[in-house]
Amino acid sequence: ENIESEERINPNILITGTPGTGKTTLCELVAETTGLIHIDVGKLVKEKGLHQGFDQEYQSYIIDDDKIIDELEDKLLKGGNIVDFHSCEIFPERWFDLVLVLRTNNTILYDRLETRGYIQKKITENIECEIFQEILEEAKESYSSEIVIELQSNSLQDMENNSIRIEEWVKNWKSNKIQ
Ligand code: ADP
Ligand code: MN
Repeated sequence: ENIESEERINPNILITGTPGTGKTTLCELVAETTGLIHIDVGKLVKEKGLHQGFDQEYQSYIIDDDKIIDELEDKLLKGGNIVDFHSCEIFPERWFDLVLVLRTNNTILYDRLETRGYIQKKITENIECEIFQEILEEAKESYSSEIVIELQSNSLQDMENNSIRIEEWVKNWKSNKIQ
């Protein structure tokens, strides 16, 4: 384990996955039960201008990795955050103690993205991203395999189970620190 994470009293968790898999909903729930601070990176990109403009064709911001890292570094070094983003390779590996990749069945994900009002091109792109499990592969390439876990996020029951599981994990992490 690296020096940075040994200095943290509270863990940092990354919740990643294709848009629509339920990252923000789960993070809000976990933030309430654990006291971890929810950082919605997509929202910060918009609010703080951590991008290089808007891509009209893909209807999304062209993110600025360096600006995002600079914005988050101090908070992450302190620990106690649950970070919510659809990509995971841009962050320094040392930041996270646990990386969770949410997964959703194609037809369920399609409905969620359609409800969200995404243009067809963006729906197709995200469904393909999920089919080819791109974010899971990205997470496995970017972080140690012991800390990367895939979680199903199809139903409210899944969300409840995931929330309880994360809450337990946080408790264990903290008690292992004290010993
Ligand atoms: P993300 O942040 O990954 O883009 P959201 O948390 O915004 O996803 O969720 C997208 C939509 O799907 C929301 O309407 C949310 O209520 C719903 N949702 C999220 N997770 C689940 C789940 N496990 N079961 C059922 N609906 C879910
Ligand atoms: Mn979100």
